[in-house]
Amino acid sequence: MRHSSRNYLLRRILIAALILCLFAASLPFSFRLIQRLSESEEVAALRQVEIPTWIEVDLIGINGAARRGTSLESVGGIVIHYIGNPATTAAQNRNYFDNPDTTVSAHFVIGLEGEIIQCVPLNEKSSASNHRNADTISIEVCHPDETGVFTDASYRALVRLSAWLCHECGLDTEAIIRHYDVTGKTCPRWFVEDEEAWEKFRRDVASALEKGEF
Ligand SMILES: [Zn+2]
Repeated sequence: MRHSSRNYLLRRILIAALILCLFAASLPFSFRLIQRLSESEEVAALRQVEIPTWIEVDLIGINGAARRGTSLESVGGIVIHYIGNPATTAAQNRNYFDNPDTTVSAHFVIGLEGEIIQCVPLNEKSSASNHRNADTISIEVCHPDETGVFTDASYRALVRLSAWLCHECGLDTEAIIRHYDVTGKTCPRWFVEDEEAWEKFRRDVASALEKGEF
């Protein structure tokens, strides 16, 4: 009698443990399902955007602070950054974002040769622009030296990517801002220290957007 009641208890514990494991395993899926259902229409639409072939999609893992897998709340702007680590490549920076200890990321990184890597899906938050992470798409640009000036190839890629994003997100070029405009940080250095270069950049994007050059 005592033996069988111990068996009964063991079975109950095993079943409870199994239920607990199943519940724990389903948590990430439930979380993502709830997120998907609560996404705003404009953010949900970003899931459907077809990424052009001139962008390499190499998403980082959902790894904590760099990418939590949480949805944007809305799409109100595009924030331009510079990497701040001269002569590093787009792939190196993408891999840095992918590290579980890293707390920063960007939707896109543009390399010295003008290559573009997408690191975070368009409908999700990146960790680049402080309190504007919730409603902006972020672009990090590599640069050869401490001046922070972009190469011609990086610049052209940045104009093209920004124009394409404005087109896809229904934004005008006024919605393109610098990290500096969010926090006062000297980022991207070139466009903060040379206001004329910044204004020219926005005119170049407006022109590309108007001509459909993306
Ligand atoms: Zn920045």
